[in-house]
Amino acid sequence: MQPILGIDFGTTNTSAAWFDAQGKLKIVPVTDRSAVLPSVVWFPSADLTKCLVGPSARTQLIDDQKHTVFGAKRFLGRRFNSEFVSKHRDRFAFDLVEGGDGYSAVLIYGQTIPLVDVAGVVVRDIVARAVRAAGHPFTQCVMTVPAHASVRQREAVRRAAESAGLKVAAIVNEPTAAALYYANLRSPKQTVLIFDLGGGTFDATVMRVENRVVKVLATGGDGFLGGSNFDELLAETFAAQLEQEAGVSVRSNRTVMQRLALAAEFAKIQLSRLEVIDVRVPVVAQRPGGGFIDFQVRLTRERMEELLTPLIERCIGATEDVLQRAGLQPKDIDELVLVGGQTRMPLVRRRLAHFPNLSSEKDVHPELGVAVGAAILGRNLSRTRSSGLNDVIAMPVSVMLVGGRTVEVIAPNTPVPCTRSVPLEGLPPWSAPVPLVLFESLEQTSVDREIIGTVHISEEWRTRADVTPSLELTVGQDFSLSARIVAPGGMQTQLQIVDQRR
Ligand code: AMP
Repeated sequence: MQPILGIDFGTTNTSAAWFDAQGKLKIVPVTDRSAVLPSVVWFPSADLTKCLVGPSARTQLIDDQKHTVFGAKRFLGRRFNSEFVSKHRDRFAFDLVEGGDGYSAVLIYGQTIPLVDVAGVVVRDIVARAVRAAGHPFTQCVMTVPAHASVRQREAVRRAAESAGLKVAAIVNEPTAAALYYANLRSPKQTVLIFDLGGGTFDATVMRVENRVVKVLATGGDGFLGGSNFDELLAETFAAQLEQEAGVSVRSNRTVMQRLALAAEFAKIQLSRLEVIDVRVPVVAQRPGGGFIDFQVRLTRERMEELLTPLIERCIGATEDVLQRAGLQPKDIDELVLVGGQTRMPLVRRRLAHFPNLSSEKDVHPELGVAVGAAILGRNLSRTRSSGLNDVIAMPVSVMLVGGRTVEVIAPNTPVPCTRSVPLEGLPPWSAPVPLVLFESLEQTSVDREIIGTVHISEEWRTRADVTPSLELTVGQDFSLSARIVAPGGMQTQLQIVDQRR
């Protein structure tokens, strides 16, 4: 039996692991010293097949920003016209455009590349490294996604893996994968909270681990809160300082802002171990009368913590919310497991000190835990075909009824697989099919909701005045969504969920 490769395709970094024929865990090496592949792709020329991935592409973030794509996972599986993309796309120096299917794509040397293909390039690269390390090919993988990933984002991750030539055996939520890893390290019965703060997203998930089976009790977080927001906030303060001291505004210059953000990230990482660091970014602007301006600041850990506290507090707020939904308090948590590179910041640990027991970096590797969890799931699936997982829905699924009223059909924290229905009263007597829009959203009022697609109710269902049909939605173990319309007496029709462009 060929092993299934566990792949953690992250916003910032990608890593992978598998269990060899002897049952030994193997981590895919990237460089001599590191097992994380920066999720960065550089296109050096208009021949898009000749792109570079990882450490060598990362260095181009400064020299060739227009053709260097990073953080693309944030926009993967999102419609270009969505609120989310409009809000965030200006932060990136590469050109984000609308792809032929309405989803986000990048424009490189005048050619539109769907983000699924960019993601596919990263996945293909880590798979090639895995094949070299293992000495045999891989045909199947387990992919991880943030707990808040929408149906369309999950689909996009699946397609990216398929474009790299792999069959996707399962898609698992990152915190759940981290818990699987943890469950294999620890004694039989525990309640754990996974605090996962990576480069792009934050997830908090409470789980019960029992005899290596993981049951998710509640999950929550913030799909746009991660280490890169920390870097951007620091870069903003650098820009403000430049404005004050040199009288130049660099905020609208994406190239300079990216350089400031990279310098901020470097300083931030160093300040996890040092107390103070000198940040210097040469030639950020030109004086009106000629001459260049260098940016320079002495940043202490204390000052950085002060600046970043609001972001940490957002994580803490989301964590408290998740605990409350699980009906638990910090004292009920046997261990709080820190995953994601940003949890290496000492303030994160200090701010969580009211939990009785925090995982140590030596025990639970913050960057590789998710990939190892995916590998464990892959091993379980290849041995027993059972995942040993009981996961829950993070993003509720709602339907917008005729007249604009929105009804939540599947509530957050519902265990998967599940089926829920909503009566369709008062369907209008039009002769054309009635469209109903399905979407995912954390808040009913949120503008950031993700449209899944539209189902069309045909006329025959509306002319039967004697029955009120119901819309029935099913979410599978793999978080795939399907829809049916049903009526008393056994009448039913499978509905196609059409993902149309807006
Ligand atoms: P991940 O997505 O788990 O690879 O996490 C990447 C994020 O962790 C990036 O935003 C990094 O800047 C951040 N990070 C990595 N190492 C450290 C560190 N030692 N201290 C603070 N942040 C870090």
